[in-house]
Amino acid sequence: MSRYFSSKFDRLTPYTPGEQPSDLSRFVKLNTNESPFPPSEAAMECARGLLRPLNLYSDTTCGDLRRELAAIEHVDPDELIMTNGSDEVLDYAFACFCDRDHPAAFADITYGFYPVFAQRNLVPYTVIPLKDDMTIDPEDYTGIGKTIFIANPNAPTGITLSADALEKIIASNPDNVVVVDEAYADFSGVTCVPLIRKYPNLLVTRTFSKSRSLAGGRLGYGIACKELIRDLETFRYSLNPYNINSMTIAAGIAVLRDEETVRANIAVINANRAYTTEELTKRGFRVLPSGANFVFAMHPDIPGGVLYEKLKDRGILVRHFTAERIREYNRITVGTKEQMDLLLAAVDEIRKEN
Ligand SMILES: *Cc1c(COP(=O)(O)O)cnc(C)c1O
Repeated sequence: MSRYFSSKFDRLTPYTPGEQPSDLSRFVKLNTNESPFPPSEAAMECARGLLRPLNLYSDTTCGDLRRELAAIEHVDPDELIMTNGSDEVLDYAFACFCDRDHPAAFADITYGFYPVFAQRNLVPYTVIPLKDDMTIDPEDYTGIGKTIFIANPNAPTGITLSADALEKIIASNPDNVVVVDEAYADFSGVTCVPLIRKYPNLLVTRTFSKSRSLAGGRLGYGIACKELIRDLETFRYSLNPYNINSMTIAAGIAVLRDEETVRANIAVINANRAYTTEELTKRGFRVLPSGANFVFAMHPDIPGGVLYEKLKDRGILVRHFTAERIREYNRITVGTKEQMDLLLAAVDEIRKEN
């Protein structure tokens, strides 16, 4: 650290992203919950036709993109804000809706970026432990008077909370914003989006990175009542109005025009998740019930860190976390059937060695 780095960041621990190998041919990549399916050829062809000349600045309003997305989400365009990945709208939410009087609250086992955003925005926060079975107890969030962040399905557990349970949490904290991070909601089918007109304190965040096959494009969005969106827009126009580049805007619109492919891919991934869960269970794994495009699994006889290393030696990348409560687990992205069979074959080899 240089002597110029502000001491206000003394305790800032940055987020650790999953490995992104440059030589993709060496690995079956099941570590960062991307789609195994690239955007369709039709979508990429369409994107070329939509691209605004790169000598011009991008559309700061993302007008066309927002209009087409609003129709799909059944909301108004001004109930949407577009951001550089949903990470960006989550960061904005910590900046805009948390302070000393509105401390943040989130689970101990959840998206690793929440504590980082809280620290970087100099926001106080409370960590609420999941129950022993790794589920969220809605009672722990009822009427707590804090700005709540809940990933639903949760990551890395994959466990989904019902929209009814979330509604009780939202209704019982009327003086604070409740952020529901729906990065994986297309795989669970459970969403709080219809609640935005009923609760002025609800912000739902979503992403093109998982179900829509656009992780590298960096495109996410928030859905909320117009007043909350206006606050977030005030912040965005004070930071980086050109947060979405023209190539990503074109790709985003193109992907929205091929929803059929997106829906078909979600169905395949959900079928592969059921297959992977069943096959891992047969092999003695404990697999948490997942509503996402990954499974969180542990084997009673193979330490989590050992399994991670042995899979990596065999060219299979999964995600291992070292936090005490979950270090016996690995988070495995659901890929194609072929990729899952490669994973299972490697698991069989490792079990023989053990
Ligand atoms: C992947 C993920 C995100 C955001 O990803 P972006 O690529 O920034 O849209 C947000 N929340 C959770 C829980 C995630 O797993």
